[in-house]
Amino acid sequence: MYNYLIIGSGLYGAVFAQQAKAAGKSVLVIDKRNHIAGNVYTEKVEGIDFHKYGAHIFHTNNKQVWEYVNRFVDFNRFTNSPVANYKGELYSLPFNMYTFHKMWGVVTPQQAAEKIARQKAAAGITQPKNLEEQAISLVGTDIYEKLIKGYTQKQWGRPCDQLSAFIIKRLPVRLTFDNNYFNALYQGIPVGGYTRLVENLLQGIEVRLNTDYLQHKTQLDTLAEKVVYTGPIDAYFNYRLGALEYRSVRFENEVLDIPNYQGNAAVNYTDAETPYTRIIEHKWFTFGKDEDGNDLPKTVISREYSSEWKPGDEPYYPVNDEKNTALYARYKLLAEQQPKVLFGGRLGEYKYYDMDAVILSALQRARAELE
Ligand code: UDP
Repeated sequence: MYNYLIIGSGLYGAVFAQQAKAAGKSVLVIDKRNHIAGNVYTEKVEGIDFHKYGAHIFHTNNKQVWEYVNRFVDFNRFTNSPVANYKGELYSLPFNMYTFHKMWGVVTPQQAAEKIARQKAAAGITQPKNLEEQAISLVGTDIYEKLIKGYTQKQWGRPCDQLSAFIIKRLPVRLTFDNNYFNALYQGIPVGGYTRLVENLLQGIEVRLNTDYLQHKTQLDTLAEKVVYTGPIDAYFNYRLGALEYRSVRFENEVLDIPNYQGNAAVNYTDAETPYTRIIEHKWFTFGKDEDGNDLPKTVISREYSSEWKPGDEPYYPVNDEKNTALYARYKLLAEQQPKVLFGGRLGEYKYYDMDAVILSALQRARAELE
């Protein structure tokens, strides 16, 4: 009999497991995949840390979280500066003075601010009601048309006027020359990859892979006093209220026998016609070098195709629109009637969590639970 059975070895599960073990509890972690680490999993391909389920760049403003993860792995100094490719025109991201200069030829922050204000006024927006209006009021129509509209429609499979404004609020807009994508005090990539971080979190903890909890639920539930469930909340309840919607991503991966394909970790294709949203060139997360500082001769790229999730696909992004938010609220009520089960993480809470937020949430939950 274990104190905790933890379903899923992604960040939420691994952090909770680490905290529980440190508090003297017995813990069993299971995962239906044949590897640990959930969607942050990385593996070596041609010596490169390959982010199998999409690129992850750790960034946080939370000192407690930063110090916590640094106990388990070292981080490099990677700073995310994606480039946008609109029909062959290249723009700096996030939206900053380099972007505005390239788009309009403006030189000063005042000129950029005036340009944005004029375009916003011309569009007649006072209170942005959706993503399109939010975007135009932040950066004007030109940038919306070239750098946001096509990308967002591909990413979410819905037109921008049917999406929530909050999605775009993740993106910084700056009147300074600063291509750092994130407004975060701390940022980097784990040396040796995210799998090493999760391996170290799970040090000394029993892990069973290739084990599907929902298929063997009755039997597995007898193994522990409490369950921490980080899978999809609707799947836990056998979709009895209906299925929550997700966006999924399909990756087309390629190993190329050249040292440098695009000169940057991320290039976003922001037009509507290119079928993929972005190309990730994984080696640039570690500056093109292996851990010993040697140059990596080949390169691995991933084209990302965003798609509507259907049963059997990997769920990536919760669709936090009104309909799904309301459905989740009903599942949450069901979850609250399960005193032996804690639901956590991006899938367990149907929440568009970043890595640092999911770690903080697991730390807080563990503290409340283990006290
Ligand atoms: N976005 C955009 N153009 C870009 C990059 C992002 O319009 O080149 C918008 C898009 O709506 C996206 C949102 O900004 O869903 C948030 O982007 P972010 O890169 O934070 O999303 P993630 O990395 O989680 O996919």
